[in-house]
Amino acid sequence: MIANNYYHNSINEADYYFVKQQCENTFKQNKFSEGDQNIKIRNIRKDFPILERKINGYNLVWLDNAATTQKPLCVTESLNRYYKEYNSNVHRGAHTLAKEATEEYESARKKVQKFIGSSSPEEIIFLRGATEAINLVANTYGNMIINGQDEILVSQMEHHSNIVPWQMLCHKKGSRIVPIPINDKGEIILEEYEKLFSPRTKMVAITQVSNVLGTINPIREIVAIAHSHGVCVLVDGAQAAPHLSTDVRELDADFYTLSGHKMYGPTGIGVLYGKKALLDSMPPWQGGGGMIKDVDFDKTVYMDLPYKFEAGTGNIADAVALGTAVDYIEEIGMNNIECHEQELTKYAMEALSAIKGSYTIGNAYNKTSVLSFILDGVSPQKMAELLDSEGIAVRAGHHCAQPVLKHFGLSSTLRASIGLYNTYEDIDALVKGIIKHRYKS
Ligand code: PLP
Repeated sequence: MIANNYYHNSINEADYYFVKQQCENTFKQNKFSEGDQNIKIRNIRKDFPILERKINGYNLVWLDNAATTQKPLCVTESLNRYYKEYNSNVHRGAHTLAKEATEEYESARKKVQKFIGSSSPEEIIFLRGATEAINLVANTYGNMIINGQDEILVSQMEHHSNIVPWQMLCHKKGSRIVPIPINDKGEIILEEYEKLFSPRTKMVAITQVSNVLGTINPIREIVAIAHSHGVCVLVDGAQAAPHLSTDVRELDADFYTLSGHKMYGPTGIGVLYGKKALLDSMPPWQGGGGMIKDVDFDKTVYMDLPYKFEAGTGNIADAVALGTAVDYIEEIGMNNIECHEQELTKYAMEALSAIKGSYTIGNAYNKTSVLSFILDGVSPQKMAELLDSEGIAVRAGHHCAQPVLKHFGLSSTLRASIGLYNTYEDIDALVKGIIKHRYKS
């Protein structure tokens, strides 16, 4: 319960500015400081014209990156170029535009493949997002292996999209979900996790980074434990891919999912990675054009990977633009992004926990980019509205992860989430906004 898992600070407002100064002295020494050659944050911000918007007369402060990230110009231009110059269906025509569109679509697949460390583009399936990817696995692999009294281990900190598809499968099969417990800091309790395995355990589904707590889960260990019991693991990478270098082979994940819009790409495009042998063993999910070699009324021969899982016309333009987003991230450098966001996260944690009457939810030792908190005497919704009146965009609510909020005895938090373009000034604006409205409300 909440009593053990918050930072509750009781300093007054004047003391806060002293603490804040100390934080600044400590954290402003990092690589992202003005003048640093590694990453020029101010130049990066110029790639995102939306960050110049005024909201209610104030500069936009976008701290809702866990919901969706803003798009750099190269991504919007990539979309534009697709429709202006080579819009065509892929794989199905002999003409020039079909060839160009196919080339770009398949090149995007290879970019994603390299980005997440997969060994072959056949393992990369384009879908609508992480949600669709998890539903695909539940309805194919899950449907194949889960029966009767079987159990699926799902962590307590999952987004609904990594709970509900498994629950629907369990309802169909008479099986059950077993929650993997977390401690009061918001970390998986590995010893408890290991104890949950039995011959009934058939699947583990876990997020790499929590969208509520920011916890970075020890995926390698979690996968190794599952594999030692002969159980496959689906890793939800929706909140990890924009913040951490990912290597699915090093993690030894059996399935890995991501959403383009959370990593500076467009909405409506995401990816399922699966180990080739597993994907080969699975039946297709949806049927239609594009996924067949031969159709007769009594029999259909399916395409090989990855097309077996890509029925119908895919989201070609957005897949191509996701490839551009990957290029963009790689140009900046994932290590630079990680370092910058880690420093900003620490800075924000210190600053938020110094506010009188604030409680931070999710204090894992290993965490990134997501800050959930509540404030005495003002609801998350009200505070989010007050902050919006000054152009500061944060989210209030259950963040599509009600079980984890219930674990902390809550139904709603305020959530500020950091992206590669955020600055110390953004965090300062948030903290100042909270202090100002906190004492007025
Ligand atoms: N998993 C996590 C951890 C998320 O945060 C989200 C979205 O917030 C999803 C999955 C679902 O992503 P999408 O809605 O893009 O399919």
